[in-house]
Amino acid sequence: MIDLRSDTVTKPTEAMRKAAFEAEVGDDVYVEDPTVNRLEEKAAEILGKEAALFVTSGTQGNQIAVLTHCQPGQEVIVEAESHVFYYEGAAMSAFAGIQPRTIKGVRGAMNPQDVKAAIRGEDIHFPETGLICLENTHNRAGGAIVPLENMKEIYEIAKEHNVPVHLDGARLFNASVATGIPLKEFAAQTDSVQVCLSKGLGAPVGSIIAGSKEFIAKARKWRKRLGGGLRQVGIIAAPAYIALTEMVDRLIDDHVNAKKLAEGLGQIPSLRVENEVETNIVLVNVADTGHDANSFLELIKKEEILAVGFGPTTVRFTTNYDVTSEEIDTVIDKIKSVLS
Ligand SMILES: *Cc1c(COP(=O)(O)O)cnc(C)c1O
Repeated sequence: MIDLRSDTVTKPTEAMRKAAFEAEVGDDVYVEDPTVNRLEEKAAEILGKEAALFVTSGTQGNQIAVLTHCQPGQEVIVEAESHVFYYEGAAMSAFAGIQPRTIKGVRGAMNPQDVKAAIRGEDIHFPETGLICLENTHNRAGGAIVPLENMKEIYEIAKEHNVPVHLDGARLFNASVATGIPLKEFAAQTDSVQVCLSKGLGAPVGSIIAGSKEFIAKARKWRKRLGGGLRQVGIIAAPAYIALTEMVDRLIDDHVNAKKLAEGLGQIPSLRVENEVETNIVLVNVADTGHDANSFLELIKKEEILAVGFGPTTVRFTTNYDVTSEEIDTVIDKIKSVLS
């Protein structure tokens, strides 16, 4: 199988498995796991924040950020197709007692003036705006890079109104590699940030959230409340450290492969690439093949190719560490021949 369902499907490298085996460990609930501490210090440094916390998943990291920044009864401004709104099972309502306020973006970027207009003024009828969430790269916008300038403008507005900003940077490494802008410049436009180590970077498990010391101290408690206080967790922090320090530059390969895939599939008359491919995601509209997304996925599965549905007639392909450039050629050839 050539698995292009997600960049989460990558298996840990041999170096990661070896690092897990050899990791020095302690009880992380007592902050005594040296491998976790080393990972958190390194992540804080790379993200330009005072402190960082290792969490089990991107979803957990985003929700800890919401819980830490907000109070029940508040409202969080989110992009209408953001992961935190679209794909996290309404966790902000279920756990934090928060109501989301959606704003439709363009290529994942909200218009700063729309954000400004959505911030609530004082009124007994209104919820208070507790947080603004950004996402970069933006998954449902096809791995689109939200421009640094857009983030800056929103952060300025947020500061004027005393509203914190959280960045869902599950794929912020992709944005950084594609633009050459260091992670800390993106992270500087937010109060907190979540980055996934288990996507393109290939760690088996884990995300990082980063922010001020005070934010991380509160976040640590929320992680414990959610049952995310793990013990000898250096076992998974060791591969995560390799992901963070050795696997970032390789993301460029995924981007090159995604562009190649988009070009190849774009030449097939019945397929239409929906997004301008900037990073590792290709969205393909299959309507003209006579298939819907599900039947198209069945068709290519028989050719030993896996992707995911992303709308009634849209299919998402995500390039990743376990898929080579030659395999991208194979995917293009097989899809071309099965459709002809
Ligand atoms: C994958 C993803 C997450 C969640 O990460 P999990 O580790 O799967 O919980 C959050 N935000 C975005 C944009 C993602 O793509």
